[in-house]
Amino acid sequence: MNDLIQQTAKYLVAARHVVALTGAGISVESGIPPFRGEGGLWEKYDPMEFAHINSFMKNPEKVWKIFMGDMKKVLLAAKPNDAHLGLARLEQLGILKTVITQNVDGLHQMAGNTDVIEFHGNFAWLRCLQCDKRFKTVEVDLSEAPPKCTCGGIFRPECVFFGEMIPPIALTRSQEESSQCDVMLVVGTSALVQPAAFMPVLAQQSGATVIEINPEPTPLTGRISKFLVAGKAGQIMNEILSEVNSLIQSQKQ
Ligand code: NAD
Ligand code: ZN
Repeated sequence: MNDLIQQTAKYLVAARHVVALTGAGISVESGIPPFRGEGGLWEKYDPMEFAHINSFMKNPEKVWKIFMGDMKKVLLAAKPNDAHLGLARLEQLGILKTVITQNVDGLHQMAGNTDVIEFHGNFAWLRCLQCDKRFKTVEVDLSEAPPKCTCGGIFRPECVFFGEMIPPIALTRSQEESSQCDVMLVVGTSALVQPAAFMPVLAQQSGATVIEINPEPTPLTGRISKFLVAGKAGQIMNEILSEVNSLIQSQKQ
């Protein structure tokens, strides 16, 4: 058994208020490509270009074609993996309070977490740029780029593009949770996109133990996080959960 897995489980079981911050990496094992890293969309497109609000407003057709080619199929068909399910199980055990996610895939809610702060919105809803009506993405005909509302207006996804503000409620709640938690699990984020990447800093400055799960080090590693449990989120979460369960069992005896 990896010593860092054991340490993580001990921190979790002893904690009073655990928060998880997740990024695109947690959904990789569900088949959704991240932006950066191996197999990331960055290898094909520059997200600063296709995921920037100015590019979308200038050329929604081009941006929608990228979404449709690469993101739509996976985003709409993806299922939670062991890492999402592990976080949901930690909530059921009364250990995890809140998930702050940068993802737009809705997989934490599907896994069963009940308090999910969506920092960058959600792909499950589309909004018409002309009449402002909202529609469920699955109920919209996405065969044409850009998809259009019955009023003729162009749809945008309810995700936060680069260059847009984080929804104020999501930002305020994330800051509160980050400064109140005593353990923060940072799973599958490159910690390069601000202000999400500041949440672990806030947690650490407020006295929390920050633990990273990621196959690769990030700018937080060795500086903000206590340690990095290196590996894929699904497998690592399974190992952590089994250790948490045995700690809980031994406490009962
Ligand atoms: P990122 O794409 O910048 O980085 C992904 C990180 O995940 C990397 O550090 C990588 O090492 C790690 N990773 C790769 N495979 C992993 C695995 N199996 N287990 C654990 N970690 C793994 O992701 P980011 O930091 O979230 O920033 C990208 C932004 O793009 C986000 O803010 C998000 O809004 C958006 N995005 C969302 C999705 C989604 O909803 N699933 C997908 C792509 C991008
Ligand atoms: Zn409309």
